[in-house]
Amino acid sequence: MQELVRQLLRELGEDPAREGLLDTPKRVDKALRFLTSGYGADIDAVLNNALFTVDYSEMVIVKDIDFYSLCEHHLLPFFGKCHVAYIPSNRVIGLSKIPRLVDVFARRLQVQERLTNQIADVILEKIAPLGVAVVVEASHLCMSMRGVQKQNSFAVTSAMLGAFRDNARTRMEFLELIKLRGSLPALREPSPAAVACSTDD
Ligand SMILES: [Zn+2]
Repeated sequence: MQELVRQLLRELGEDPAREGLLDTPKRVDKALRFLTSGYGADIDAVLNNALFTVDYSEMVIVKDIDFYSLCEHHLLPFFGKCHVAYIPSNRVIGLSKIPRLVDVFARRLQVQERLTNQIADVILEKIAPLGVAVVVEASHLCMSMRGVQKQNSFAVTSAMLGAFRDNARTRMEFLELIKLRGSLPALREPSPAAVACSTDD
């Protein structure tokens, strides 16, 4: 990858032999491998020994999980907060594992909509809860840095499965808990929210 980065620097009109850029290919290589390390992650290893059988069916919620991802259209960052909730049927995930799951899917080339769905789907698959809800709020540097559609550089996406899809009160309770209700009318119904990164250019 380092030779590709040197080539890229040349394409950009830079001199890869310049002192400040000498180690840049090495750093970019390391950074990109870390930022895409989610591809190599083993979900079961991440969840290792953190699935528990319980007699509990109240909503479990983990909110304000910071995440950083890369938009697959421009390879530029999008980042923000992720909120996750589920209603156990008889199994729960250790709370500290939820942010780890978010990282597994965020550290890939992504679109915000798919990131949202993948987090919800993996929780559904691993503990078969009565419902799962995931809301992702993110700013997209591919929009704001490039000066295109600045007003749309912030996007909210949601995935509502099971009880969160079927029961408006459950959904409202979750949105109330993450303080989104009212400010985001689009989320009152489980519909695809704003479309994130534009692929027009
Ligand atoms: Zn983009």
